[in-house]
Amino acid sequence: MANRPIYLDYHATTPVDPRVFEAMRPYFTEHFGNAASRSHSFGWRAEAAVTAAREAVARLVGANPREIVFTSGATEANNLAVLGAARARQAPGAHVVTSAIEHRAVLDPCRRLEAEGFSVSYVPPDAHGLTSAAAVAGAITPETVLVSVMAANNEVGTLNPVGEIARVCKERGIVFHTDAVQALGKIPLDVHGLGLDLVSLSAHKLCGPKGVGALFVRAVNPRVRLDPVLFGGGHERGLRPGTLDVPGIVGFGAAADIAHAEGEVESQRVAKLRDRLWERLLGSVDGIERNGHPSLCLPGNLNVTIAGAPADAVMSNARDVAVSSGSACTSASAEPSHVLLALGRTRQEAEASIRFGLGRFTTEEEVDRAAGDIGRAVEKVRAEHPGKGRP
Ligand SMILES: *Cc1c(COP(=O)(O)O)cnc(C)c1O
Repeated sequence: MANRPIYLDYHATTPVDPRVFEAMRPYFTEHFGNAASRSHSFGWRAEAAVTAAREAVARLVGANPREIVFTSGATEANNLAVLGAARARQAPGAHVVTSAIEHRAVLDPCRRLEAEGFSVSYVPPDAHGLTSAAAVAGAITPETVLVSVMAANNEVGTLNPVGEIARVCKERGIVFHTDAVQALGKIPLDVHGLGLDLVSLSAHKLCGPKGVGALFVRAVNPRVRLDPVLFGGGHERGLRPGTLDVPGIVGFGAAADIAHAEGEVESQRVAKLRDRLWERLLGSVDGIERNGHPSLCLPGNLNVTIAGAPADAVMSNARDVAVSSGSACTSASAEPSHVLLALGRTRQEAEASIRFGLGRFTTEEEVDRAAGDIGRAVEKVRAEHPGKGRP
């Protein structure tokens, strides 16, 4: 098994932790009840499991369990937050502030709001990918009803000062939403301590299952009102109807429990591996530069631009290393990353960028092998395309 592929794409998704899988298993088979069935023990059993998972997710982010609304993932949570909060505050000229480097699951609902008559400001980040509270404050107008700025960027890993942004919003009575998918379980996230109003979460970036997520909806100081996006049954306090994915939610709860117990130690270990990977690459690849923030960065993120080495060519010469190029995030399209362009990278540089995502099951041996494979691939690509933007 010399050529076992190395998974370094933890920002895209993560393997399900075997402990999570074991927790989920009985809820597919013997405990298959509908959590909304009130008249028999199958339903009660399922409801009890959902309640325990809701408590686990709430505990991880410092929320009250009744503030957690389960969804089909963070894409849905972002749609519910952005569309739901804006539409509940619809008025002539109503205005929304977001950042230019949000995930498409925030940017596309913002475009939808523009089609509905809202105006939206897309705040440019600084060269490290950071959106400051001052930049947000500068974009706010008397008509602003919602601000949405991510906690951690999924491409370059930059961490935003969401507590400061929340304060700017609170002073002006504006609802603040953050997409915290990448931050969850990696950095401390205390929704009440930080003063957040709406927070999107996803299980599958946390070694939980795909297809389940949650929206934190602040219930007090103030209670945040949302227009539902879906209709049909009144589940989840009327905010998200539909039969609950009980096994998925149980898995999300188990993943949250593990992150609560082990997240801090894991983040330190992963950050060390990330630093090792960067040192190895820096030592063997000339013309390599790091993207993102030098210190305010997710522990498992390393995003690099390698002069004269198109990422697609590098990746096809390093087939055992699973990483993403600077254009992979919107799966269907091959457009260069809107994030790297917003950070000031040229189109050519964005296309010569690779995102490494390290996580729970990444080992030192994998990091060393990946650095070697990528280094050799870069040499090969440069030999085949001599002179093309070389350092
Ligand atoms: C993965 C991701 C999403 C989408 O989450 P899903 O649960 O896959 O819908 C949203 N925002 C960010 C920052 C992400 O990394």
